[in-house]
Amino acid sequence: MAPTLEQRVRGLLSQIEAEGLYKRERVINSTQAGRIRVVSQASEREFVNLCANNYLGLADHPEVIAAAKRGLDEFGFGMASVRFICGTQAVHRELERTIAGYLGKEDAILFAACFDANGGVFEPLLDADDAIISDSLNHASIIDGVRLCKARRYRFTNGDMNELEDRLKEADRDGARFKLIATDGVFSMDGYVANLAVICNLAERYGAVVMVDDCHATGHLGEAGRGTPTLTGTSQKVEIVTGTFGKSLGGAMGGFVAASQSIIDLLRQRARPYLFSNSLAPAVAAGSIKAIAIAEIADDRRQLLAAHARRFRSGLEKAGFELLAGETPIIPVMLHEARLAQDMAAALDERGVYVAPFFYPVVPKGRARIRTQMSAALTEKDVEFAVDAFADAGKALGVI
Ligand SMILES: *Cc1c(COP(=O)(O)O)cnc(C)c1O
Repeated sequence: MAPTLEQRVRGLLSQIEAEGLYKRERVINSTQAGRIRVVSQASEREFVNLCANNYLGLADHPEVIAAAKRGLDEFGFGMASVRFICGTQAVHRELERTIAGYLGKEDAILFAACFDANGGVFEPLLDADDAIISDSLNHASIIDGVRLCKARRYRFTNGDMNELEDRLKEADRDGARFKLIATDGVFSMDGYVANLAVICNLAERYGAVVMVDDCHATGHLGEAGRGTPTLTGTSQKVEIVTGTFGKSLGGAMGGFVAASQSIIDLLRQRARPYLFSNSLAPAVAAGSIKAIAIAEIADDRRQLLAAHARRFRSGLEKAGFELLAGETPIIPVMLHEARLAQDMAAALDERGVYVAPFFYPVVPKGRARIRTQMSAALTEKDVEFAVDAFADAGKALGVI
């Protein structure tokens, strides 16, 4: 007899489990912060948290929470409508203008998540006559968004600018009308910043448009936290920026595209995740507006974040760990083997440090690691505590 769907699903689950790839969610019994309370085996322990995208520490900022509460009181709990029917309040337009102004673009359009922004941005702008040239390490949502668009797809190896140029030439040979280069601003698994200076030069030379997904940069990288275009001096040249309110900017949820007025106007007419999905909750929009206002003047937080990154990097290097080089608060500790990364995460867990191990298929085989992320929510003491825990766990496992 043919297996039922239920049997197939159970088979897949056992396979995921057997491969050691089964992800289990842990319950956090506190706000998102530098120190969190995590439920483990019916008890609860405090951890230093090294794996949130809460770079600026705004996730539990009292002013952000107060602004969200005011949003709730003033605008209600939900809109029960997509934007164009009866789902647009002043707070939605204010958030769009605020994020556009922050990033130096004419306008912006909100989505339920950046996953949706990337899912909806390509298809309205390009069709089968056009070309999208995409970095091989781009986020899953860019890959999906590109798939939903009829444009021809070209891929270049992460950060390989010669290959990017080859792909631009190839697209020209194939007769592409418009060419768009799509890249993450920061590649989240490695913490590398995209080489936007070279990308934008190539784009100019070959007449391509540049789109940057700056989820891991908006709020904390570049002058005033305006992200990788500002960091690399390319903000005039990067025409389309996508991003999230779910990381540095308060960490709640919601995504956006920021670009010229006409691009945003067309996305409002045609972007499917915008047209066919509910409006952002007003409290989330109100809290995000406050988070941007704080981020824009948060040089103190950005300095603390950078100081933590330097301290943590040098502490781990001194202890003998292998790190990936970089200039972002993402600091990957290389362990190479999946089993070792998991054992190291468990050893750190016992020592009160919450980290996430990454291994194949999330990163290439033999490139397993613990990806740590610094946050302005951490104190110097927390960072030192984490360095000591790494050193202790590393010795216990023979890593260093
Ligand atoms: C987190 C992330 C996303 C998804 O953002 P959400 O708002 O959580 O959907 C998209 N792209 C990149 C590069 C990201 O890091």
